This record gives sequence, C-alpha cells and structure tokens, in this order.
Amino acid sequence: MIENFSQRLAVWQKQYGRHELPWQRQGGYATWVAEIMLQQTQVQVVVPYFQKFIKEFPTISDLASASLDSVLAHWAGLGYYSRARNLHKAAKIIVSDHHSEIPKDLDLLIQLPGIGRSTAGAILSLGFGLRGVIQDGNVRRVLSRLFCIHGDLSKATAQKTLWKLADQLTPKSGLDACVHTQAMMDLGSIVCRRSKPTCQFCPFAVDCQAHKRGEVSRFPEPKRVKQRPDETWVVLQLENERDETLFLRRPLEGIWGGLYAPHIDSSLSKISEILKSVDVLDAEYQGELTHAFSHFRVRLEHYKLKVHSQDIAEIGMWFPIDSFQNGVPAPINKLLNG
Ligand code: SF4
Repeated sequence: MIENFSQRLAVWQKQYGRHELPWQRQGGYATWVAEIMLQQTQVQVVVPYFQKFIKEFPTISDLASASLDSVLAHWAGLGYYSRARNLHKAAKIIVSDHHSEIPKDLDLLIQLPGIGRSTAGAILSLGFGLRGVIQDGNVRRVLSRLFCIHGDLSKATAQKTLWKLADQLTPKSGLDACVHTQAMMDLGSIVCRRSKPTCQFCPFAVDCQAHKRGEVSRFPEPKRVKQRPDETWVVLQLENERDETLFLRRPLEGIWGGLYAPHIDSSLSKISEILKSVDVLDAEYQGELTHAFSHFRVRLEHYKLKVHSQDIAEIGMWFPIDSFQNGVPAPINKLLNG
C-alpha cells in the first residue's frame, strides 16, 4: 500500500483540486443529480445542464412531482436518457418511501433506480460528509495505473481488486472521506488523464507502478466492446398546412426513450406501412448526419413530407419546431433545424 496516501492526496487537492463546482457543498440532492449527469459526460458539459436542472427542480419533491416530459426536456442533449428516467423514478420513491429524504445508508441507496455502489458512495461522502467509497471511471483509471491492474476493469476479478483498494485507501472518518472522494476524482481528471497524463505533476509519481515501469500508456487495458454494425435510420418529418411538425413520443424503453421525434425507422417503406393514408415516397430529402452512440454509429437521413393534419391518424403533437418545449434528441433537433 502507498504510504500516507490519503493525507498526501488531501494536501494535493487543497492546492490543485476543484473547489468551485456548482454542486459542491450543496448537500445530497445536488450531489446525486450531478453524479448521475457526470456518468458518461464531462464536467464542462454538465455544469450548464446541472444549473438549469436545479433551478427548475430545486428539491426532490419538485422533481418527483414534475412530469417525465419536463424532466426529459431538461435532459435533452445530455444523452443516456435512462439516467433521467431513473432519477425521476427514484425521486418518486424517495418521496413516497423515505419522507422526501435521501437515505444515508449504502444498502438503501443502491436499491434506488440508477444508483450503483459508486454513486451511492459519492452521495454519502460528498453529499452528507459520511464515509463513502467510490470507484468511478477516474478512480478506476488511477488505481489501474498506480497498482498495474491488468485486464478488463469491468470484469468481476478486477472489480473485486479495485473495490478492495478503493476501500483501503479511503479514510475512515466521514469528513476526510469527503475530501478524499473529491480528490480522487480531481486526480483522475486533472493529472492522471485518460490521454497524456501529466505524471511530472502527480503527487504519487514515485509510488506509481505503471510510471516506474514506463508503462503508463498500457493502463487501463482497453475493454473489448462488442460493436454493433453501423445503421441507417430514416427520419420522416410530417409538416401540416400550418407548417407545424408532428412529434411522437418514443417508447420509454430503448434509444431516446420518452423523448419526442418525428417518425424514425430503417426505411421510408417501413414508415409507409404505418402511415397508410399518405404516400411517404413523395417525401423530399433534406439532408443527413451521422451520430455516434456508445457502441454503434447511425446515419440519420432526413425527409420532409407536406400533409394535411386530418389525414394523419397518429396520436402525436403538432408544433412549430421552434416552440416545441418537450425533449427532442439532440441530433434530431439538429436535423430539424438543419
Ligand atoms: S504517476 Fe502518472 S500514471 Fe501514475 S497515478 Fe500519477 S499521473 Fe497517473
């Protein structure tokens, strides 16, 4: 084990760490919202979303009583929408089962939708000043380099080692654990970065096994991700006599679940099977863009078709694009505003 790790890390954090993030020292709710947003999204992207979200839903009760449409509208652009759906679901549970108070207990926290062990650890330590252990992407990367942990870090063996190390390095007292949690995140994001880590500024350069062996670039070892073949999706924008576009709510499960978009399918003829009343083959091509999801890329082809509202039996919402308030996936928004 590295000597005086948490003390040295705390000294480093005090001088070089981040102290002005808008969710810091704001309690459990702000920590929870920020932690969920920060999963798969970088701090600079999250900050404006977080500020808008907290302004609109300042308390758990506000979030629980809001409509899912409104929550998703405030999430639109952040991606990974199951995070927002789970946040909303968990807020309702906290209000109904926990008297609107976030549980200060690891086991109760991880029973809530969307809260895993690491997020629970962050809520406990950063939100409540209690002892909590985290193992997010930053921590995983730092530990894999400090201790040369081989293999896919998401696999059970590596996970066991990582949790054990994370736990051993975290101070016993809650307040120290709070500083430690932030410091580990900061070390990973400021110094021990994914690419081009600045080991010359690292407080653990003399202890780090990967650095000492000159093998930093080998860690963490790349994860084997099963890539899905690239796809083409057709986006058919129906526009009525008042220049309004038909927005349909997407099924809750699946990509962009609960958000609003025009018809999307793999081809115009597939859409034509649903829209029997109009000839979709008359649709005009508007342009296209490529969007990358985490494990595949999709080419979005945009078509527009002028219709009469009364010919469309679909249950949806007709709106001018610029005044539609519900959440629309960012790439679809881009296409529509093309
Ligand atoms: S010495 Fe380099 S690789 Fe090792 S923990 Fe520090 S920044 Fe990361």
